[in-house]
Amino acid sequence: MSEKKQASLLVQGYEVVIGFETHAQLATQSKIFSRAPTAFGAEPNTQACAVDLALPGTLPVMNREAVAHAIRLGLALGSHIAEHSVFARKNYFYPDLPKGYQISQFEIPVVQGGAVSFLLGDEKKTVRLVRAHLEEDAGKSLHDEFHGMTGIDLNRAGTPLLEIVTEPDMRSSAEAVAYAKELHKIVTWIGICDGNMQEGSFRCDANVSVRKPGAPLGTRREIKNLNSFKFMQQAIDFEIRWQIEQIEDGHAIQQATVLFDPDTGETRAMRTKEDAADYRYFPDPDLPPLVVSRSWVDEVKAAMPELPRQMAERLVADYGLPEYDATAVTQSPAMAAYFETAAQASGQPKMVSNWLMGEVSRRLNNEEKDIAQAPVSAETLAALLKRIADGTVSNNAAKQVIDALWAGEGQDVDAIIEAKGLKQMNDSGALEAIVDEVMAANAPMVEQFRAGKDKAFNALVGLVMKASKGKANPQQVNDVLKQKLQ
Ligand code: ADP
Ligand code: MG
Repeated sequence: MSEKKQASLLVQGYEVVIGFETHAQLATQSKIFSRAPTAFGAEPNTQACAVDLALPGTLPVMNREAVAHAIRLGLALGSHIAEHSVFARKNYFYPDLPKGYQISQFEIPVVQGGAVSFLLGDEKKTVRLVRAHLEEDAGKSLHDEFHGMTGIDLNRAGTPLLEIVTEPDMRSSAEAVAYAKELHKIVTWIGICDGNMQEGSFRCDANVSVRKPGAPLGTRREIKNLNSFKFMQQAIDFEIRWQIEQIEDGHAIQQATVLFDPDTGETRAMRTKEDAADYRYFPDPDLPPLVVSRSWVDEVKAAMPELPRQMAERLVADYGLPEYDATAVTQSPAMAAYFETAAQASGQPKMVSNWLMGEVSRRLNNEEKDIAQAPVSAETLAALLKRIADGTVSNNAAKQVIDALWAGEGQDVDAIIEAKGLKQMNDSGALEAIVDEVMAANAPMVEQFRAGKDKAFNALVGLVMKASKGKANPQQVNDVLKQKLQ
């Protein structure tokens, strides 16, 4: 990175350092070590079985599908998949942890190394992964402030998690959010996590520290359970400002775990941070080492879909899309499929990406819909874009057509254009007549243009468009006007 760019990233003379730990709940039918269901939202304490509660006499049995999901992530991120990995007990006391320990992986995780690459603005960033390990989720404390009591719901206990840990490679809150969005895109794309952040399926912990450039790493504070991208950015920005203020005031930063309060926009220490030693990790005697054969990895590899970054690169190569557009239309497999269908049917890939990023996305966002629920199919959008490309309708008129399609007033593009009288005027004789009229009625403006006021030209174009009720072809109006003004 150039020195100038590096300097521009400093906040009040400090360099920001961020590392992420993300808990992705794996989209399996059953728990990681039992057959109890993982479904969200059931009546409290109806989905945890004796194994999840570690009742005496029960033994955990590894869920093969959870391991396959971990392998998929490792393959997607270019990680090493360990042939042997080990489950360990992480011991701590908390009311929502029924066993008094969490089964996790410590010294030897199943997924090692790898990286996540993404665009930040037009700059390519790469964040290295340390590891991704399998573990079980805990239950949940439900605080009932009205009755002044707390209940425990153990339904979530034993839900499979993949904890994905990065190196401290990120240098701004914007980069951290871009990383989290890319990781979210990947885990949902390869189908290992439903990505529902409100339900806690994808929870990020941000480790944040600051330092003077060139100094050793500063002491970090860990912001827990960020479950929206908006709060993530706010929390990290607040934390950065707070740490710099502390240091500037002469206070040392204490390593701590903090929570973000969206109501105040502030982070607040919840406990001083435990070290690994506090957890008294040891290999779980109930579980043998996890063995992942090469042939299993190959089998999973053969079933992997094309990944979003690869696909974006292919769209650049095959359709000549700008990288920005290619990234935008590969937000989800459904969006990418929609793009490809419409691009092939219309032969207008750049127009398709423009409409997907603009008119279509805006309507989907307004209605909080996913592309899969769009009321206009890729084929129908393609039919409309073809009519823009062949000059039948103007871009503006096409927006009226998509309004009608979206509202369900039929799906036949040509019929809608006909019924609404939106056909562009392509008869040059008729256009010339309008131009003559407009020039005659606006002689002073014509004079201004001839006297060198270029702005008068655009005003005349506008008047001709208006006189044609928006049906004239703007390019044609330009040409005819220029010719007549000479
Ligand atoms: P733990 O599991 O105890 O939280 P790790 O040492 O595994 O601890 O680190 C957790 C995360 O913190 C990693 O993502 C790592 O990159 C990040 N991290 C470590 N040191 C720093 C630091 N000084 N500043 C910011 N992030 C850090
Ligand atoms: Mg941590």
